[in-house]
Amino acid sequence: MAKKIDVHTHLYPRSYMEVLVKHCKSPKFLKVGDNKYRMQEGDTIMGHIDGAEEIDPDVRAQAIPKLGLDAQVISTPLPGAERFEKSMTVETQELINNELAATCKKYPKVMPRFLCSLSWKDVDASLKEMKRAKGMGAVGILCPSNVHGRAISDPEFEPIFKQAAELGMPFVVHPSVPLTAEAQNINGLPWQLFGFTFDTTMATIGCVYKGYIEKYPGLTFMVCHTGGTIPFLAFRISNSYKKYAETYKGAKDWMKMDKPLTEYLKKIMFDNCQYWGPSFRCAYELVGAEGLYLGTDYPHRAGGDWGAAGFIEAQPWLNDKEKEMIMGGNVMRVMNFKI
Ligand SMILES: [Zn+2]
Repeated sequence: MAKKIDVHTHLYPRSYMEVLVKHCKSPKFLKVGDNKYRMQEGDTIMGHIDGAEEIDPDVRAQAIPKLGLDAQVISTPLPGAERFEKSMTVETQELINNELAATCKKYPKVMPRFLCSLSWKDVDASLKEMKRAKGMGAVGILCPSNVHGRAISDPEFEPIFKQAAELGMPFVVHPSVPLTAEAQNINGLPWQLFGFTFDTTMATIGCVYKGYIEKYPGLTFMVCHTGGTIPFLAFRISNSYKKYAETYKGAKDWMKMDKPLTEYLKKIMFDNCQYWGPSFRCAYELVGAEGLYLGTDYPHRAGGDWGAAGFIEAQPWLNDKEKEMIMGGNVMRVMNFKI
């Protein structure tokens, strides 16, 4: 039987919620009921915590088998430690990672591993924390789509990617407060729609253009929501790299690469979390079954009914071996653990 391991799923430990409510200014967290919170940036509501299963590990442990899953690799995404004042980011990364590690220790069957959070704003502390978190059971890094308004591909953060490649810890690229927030509001659209998906697309492709996949062969990007728009825009991403290298002012920071850029895009991994068969098929055509993995976005509202395993099972163009890889085999391979 294929193991079903969810890698796009979130837990906000209660002690972290208290810190968020008290200290996080962007976005703000408001307690609106028992186990209910609202995430708000300016006057835009951009996220919800709807129940105890998102906060309480004991409740979560009961919920996982009911989702038809064997295990979840848990993470605390937006906002991560990087959204705090720099002076608070180090204690915050440790708080999140300690809590997630303790949950994994308590429930090793259903929550065997976690993705660590990093300060980012303090690069040296991030490098140390990455190693500490790995020692506590972290198998990857929850990578925000921007570092509080700065590109993740800013040269200051490059040592984080270099070390992660050496340690074999993939980056799971997840939305933060989107850089295109204003554009969403001009169009009257919720940020979850294009803001989140474009932000992860831009963050990842920024790293690709700067040559990170070429320079660091051990580096793995796993991009939430079926890669934002990466599979669909693969040709344009590759073509723009070639056609605007001479004239675009930002191109001075691009690395010169001779291989077609699509060769690097084929090394990126994508979850099923757009829940639309043709989109998932598009990702499959780019990376094959070995580049796909299961993600629910549970318990966030955007994840729909979180039936990721059923969704993968229902795709008629996947054979049984491929489904087994996507359900859990690929993740155990790239994150180097077994259940
Ligand atoms: Zn998510």
